[in-house]
Amino acid sequence: MEKHYAVLGDPIQHSLSPGMHNAGYKALGIKAEYHRFRVKPGQLAQAVDGLCALGFSGWNVTIPHKEPIVSLLDSLTSEARRAGAVNTVKIHEGQRIGHNTDGAGFVRSVEAELNGFQAKKAVLLGAGGAAKGIALALAEQGMELHILNRTPEKAKELVQVIQRWGGTATAGEFAPGAWLEDVDLLVQTTSLGLLNESFPFSIQGISKGALVVDIIVNQRETAILREAKGLGCRTQNGLGMLLYQGALAWEFWLGGQAPVEEMSQALKGQFFERLFAKG
Ligand code: NDP
Repeated sequence: MEKHYAVLGDPIQHSLSPGMHNAGYKALGIKAEYHRFRVKPGQLAQAVDGLCALGFSGWNVTIPHKEPIVSLLDSLTSEARRAGAVNTVKIHEGQRIGHNTDGAGFVRSVEAELNGFQAKKAVLLGAGGAAKGIALALAEQGMELHILNRTPEKAKELVQVIQRWGGTATAGEFAPGAWLEDVDLLVQTTSLGLLNESFPFSIQGISKGALVVDIIVNQRETAILREAKGLGCRTQNGLGMLLYQGALAWEFWLGGQAPVEEMSQALKGQFFERLFAKG
């Protein structure tokens, strides 16, 4: 019997997930189809009931549903409980199980470049939903975190959450500082750059060996990545995180190993098609 999966969000028309997952099913000869549905914030409960009634095997949720969906589920995995948010739901024996693959997806996307996490220093720019998942996953790997956010209270709140889970973290001003000289991994998680706008401060003086990642997925290279490259740092855009959160969702649903190479090719193909279309 054909299985059905989906991604729910608003906006959702630019999601690259259907192409990525469907390419994976094709590569392994799995009878499944991944759909994309626009679900407005007030309609999430109805949409979830609808997917269950239609026999969907699971789905992803993205902005703005990652936190609201929690109250509509029967149980959560430890990753979802820790993040306080869900990006993947599996239907198992009629039960709705919420999981979160964002943080672990990010970890997988940088592990080869970073070559070990223990006692290394990560600086996160931003303290929103994506930053939270990434920060908790990096802290679990043993990284020491420093979090800078425009609204300082939110950075401090995130530091407390990380400490509560046993991690090491501090908060600082959303500005250049001494942290630049001693950073192994810099992660840009704010929404700045989505519209190709410039970043509000320079990262001049950053340690040469740093890996700089911007998790934005609709630009090939944001302003901060351009600057980092010019300063001799290694850089990554947001496609790696998108790929591995999807691969981990696949493995949660279907078991076995996701065909990462084919999913990656499909993701990059769609990404460049879209860049050319934008001109
Ligand atoms: P949130 O709305 O939860 O957080 C937004 C963050 O951006 C906050 O820290 C906010 O700071 C900051 N911010 C927004 N505008 C500005 C500004 N003008 N100046 C400084 N800081 C600003 O969003 P998410 O965390 O869910 O998503 C953030 C980004 O991550 C998006 O671009 C999203 O597309 C991307 N993303 C990528 C993923 C991937 O797989 N690659 C997965 C998930 C998200 P403040 O607290 O002060 O408002």
